Amino acid sequence: MTDHRDRARGVLLASACGDALGVPYEYGPPLADDAVPEMVGRPESDLRPGEYSDDTAMSVCIAEAAARHGGLDEEALDDLARRFLEWGRVGVKHAGRQTKLVFAASSAPTADAMRRAARAVLEEKPHAAGNGALMRTAVVALVRPDDRLGTARSAAEVARLTHPHQESVESCVLWTEAVRRALVGGDIDLVAGLDLLEPTSRSSWRARIEAATGADPGSFTPNGYTVAAMQAAWAAVTSTPGQGAVHLSMSLIAAIRAGGDTDTIAAIAGGLLGARWGASAVPDMWRNAVHGYGGLDGAGLVALADQVLGSTQD
Ligand SMILES: [Mg+2]
Repeated sequence: MTDHRDRARGVLLASACGDALGVPYEYGPPLADDAVPEMVGRPESDLRPGEYSDDTAMSVCIAEAAARHGGLDEEALDDLARRFLEWGRVGVKHAGRQTKLVFAASSAPTADAMRRAARAVLEEKPHAAGNGALMRTAVVALVRPDDRLGTARSAAEVARLTHPHQESVESCVLWTEAVRRALVGGDIDLVAGLDLLEPTSRSSWRARIEAATGADPGSFTPNGYTVAAMQAAWAAVTSTPGQGAVHLSMSLIAAIRAGGDTDTIAAIAGGLLGARWGASAVPDMWRNAVHGYGGLDGAGLVALADQVLGSTQD
C-alpha cells in the first residue's frame, strides 16, 4: 500500500476514532493529566461504546457525496445537502445548535436552499461562528489533494452550507489546507494556508496559530467557537511530542483532556494526524471499536476513503 493511500485512509479513520474517544467526555471539565480516555459511549445520547457522533456522520456524508460524484461540484453539493438532511432525521439530537437551526430552516433538499437557510440563521445570530463546519472539513482534502485552490474552494463551499460566518469558513480553509499538505507532503503546517485567505484576515489568523503552537490545548475556551476549536486542536497536535502512532494517539488524548467539546476537538485533530501518520498509525484497539452512522466500522471508513480516492483518479 502506498503512503498516500494509508494517509488518505487515516484522515477518516483517525478523525472518527478521536470523535468516538471524545464522546463520553463531551461538555465535561478538563480531565486529569494522566487520565486515559476510553470509548465507553454516552448512553444519555444513545451513543454506544465506540460509536462516533455528528462530526464523523457529517464527514461520512461528505465522503459519500464526493465518491458518488467524483468531486464536490454543485451537483455533489446538492447530494450532500440531501445526505445531511437525511442524517438529520435520525441524528439531529447529536447535531450542533447552528446545524439544527439550518436544517429546520431548509426549504428543500438542495445546496442552494441550505445555504439560504444558513445565511438566514446567521442574520439572526450574527456572531454564530460555531465549530460545526470545522469538525467535518478534513475529509474535503481527500477529494482532490493535488488541487490546492480547488480544495480551498470546496472547503469554503461545504462550510457555507451550514456555517457561513467568515471565521467558520476561514478556519475550514486553513485546516483543510493543512490536511491536504500532510497528505501530499507528509508535513504538519497550518500557517502554510494563510495566503488562501483574504489579505485582511491573514495577520489575525497568524497570531491565533502562533498563540496555539505548543500551547496547552485546555487554554482555548469555550472551544465550541470555531477559532478556539482550531487552536485547541492545533495545540494538541503541536504540544505532543513523538512520531507516528505515539504522536497520533497521545495528541488525541491531549485534545480530549482539554475538556469542553472533546469529541469535536479530537475529531478535528484526528483528521490532520491521520493525514500525517496514516491509518496504520491508528491503534488496533480503537480501529476495532469505532463504528457509527451509515453502518460503518473501521474497515468501512477505510473503504470509504478508498472510494473517494478512486472516484477522483482517472
Ligand atoms: Mg460530536
